[in-house]
Amino acid sequence: MRRLRGTTGVAVVAAALAACAWPYAAAGQDEGGSPEERAIRAFAAGDYETAEAALRRQLEEDPGNFVAMYNLACVRAMRGDTAEAGEMLIRAVEHGFADIRQLTHDPHLAPLRGDPRYLAIVQRWDEILERRAATDLDRARERFGGGYLYERDERLRLLFASGFSPETTAQCRAEVERIHAWAMEEVFAGTHEELAGAQDAWVLVALPTRRDFERWAFETYGPAARGYTQGIGGHYNHDTKQLVTGDLGASLRHEFMHVLHWRSATRLGQIHPVWVQEGLCALIEDYDPGPDGRPVPAPSWRTNQARFLAEAGKLLKVRDLVSVPREHFTGTRPLAYYGQARALFLFVHARGRLAAWYRHFTEHFREDPTGLASLEAALGMSAEEIDAEYRRWLLSLPKVPEEVRVGSASLGVQIDATGTGEGLTISAFVPRSAAGGLRVGDVITHVDGRAVRDYYELVRVLARRSPGEIVEVGYRRGRLHGTATVTLKRAE
Ligand SMILES: [Zn+2]
Repeated sequence: MRRLRGTTGVAVVAAALAACAWPYAAAGQDEGGSPEERAIRAFAAGDYETAEAALRRQLEEDPGNFVAMYNLACVRAMRGDTAEAGEMLIRAVEHGFADIRQLTHDPHLAPLRGDPRYLAIVQRWDEILERRAATDLDRARERFGGGYLYERDERLRLLFASGFSPETTAQCRAEVERIHAWAMEEVFAGTHEELAGAQDAWVLVALPTRRDFERWAFETYGPAARGYTQGIGGHYNHDTKQLVTGDLGASLRHEFMHVLHWRSATRLGQIHPVWVQEGLCALIEDYDPGPDGRPVPAPSWRTNQARFLAEAGKLLKVRDLVSVPREHFTGTRPLAYYGQARALFLFVHARGRLAAWYRHFTEHFREDPTGLASLEAALGMSAEEIDAEYRRWLLSLPKVPEEVRVGSASLGVQIDATGTGEGLTISAFVPRSAAGGLRVGDVITHVDGRAVRDYYELVRVLARRSPGEIVEVGYRRGRLHGTATVTLKRAE
């Protein structure tokens, strides 16, 4: 049996949301009285009859729900009906169920393990995954149409559906490769040799245009999403194996990290707490290129949030942060929790202990699923010492600029506030500034070769520069990509 993982991986971005109500978690979350919740409760209590009735009800309401089919297979198996259990399992797989570990380890399927239907599924697993990948790609084609690019990354087992140009799509694929290499070395080293193997289901990575993204957000999160879409950066659903991102920078990195992390957790048969899920993924949202070009997670607007809490004496003790339930974490004040979880991981990373922590955590998951004991072990400190040291470190961090300040370096352009996900659209020029060949409507995508997909990234890159310096600005104009040489102006 398992729960739907439909709400995992929602990235929360855009500081503007701090002032808004936060409808998404509520919209996606179970009320406790839904058929799924009733089924899980009854199943846990050994009341298979009630569980079955609830699951059948759930399937009436949502006929394509393969998690419900899978759960129904479990119930039928526990009730001794291996024939229907086997059929139901086949249906679940046909509709997209793709977790071999769950299938082969779930004790509720034990009565089914000698059944020919079960054995056929396990033996033909590669074929099942291939077929599912083909179906997912077909569905993406139906959804996004012929104007999109559709590509496969055989090594990482990713399918791309991109509404952007071949150049931009290639840049995104390179970014995903970079994040993968970083994560394998700095997070999963010592835990996994690789996280893209033959048994891993393919993941669809959708890179929709802003318009298609907004439509998707509306359909997924309901009318509540209207007008709030800037607050949803992206989403990864580990059941459907689909990643959708609203921007090609921080959100793409965050969501792709969810893919790798879920692959890891799935293999280990673990479901990690929300601070681990969101903190690890938020960690790689903002990075600086290191000397060898590899990502180095950097302080960002999120660290500012944590720092602000520390200054106000409101920073959660590590002991409390690690046990915040998901509904609180993503509930009314998500930015505070995301910021603190990211800052804590940045602290662990800065001490070079991230991979050691992850390994310890996953090896001792049964003893301490919160991750606190592993923090103590990896850092060699008690929880109280971590609190003190972490707070001191946080307060020593520089405040990261979140807007171009008067007197600092500026491109001399005004930016359309809505953003495109790919870059920043020029809406006007500041008087007396040299345009360097840029035009209104151009989408700025790079500064000196560094991708700037959203305003925060642009501000962080410009903060390292001074007025009068010359930078190369990468932009897209219609279908064409180009570069312009721009002398940085003093912001007024
Ligand atoms: Zn997330």
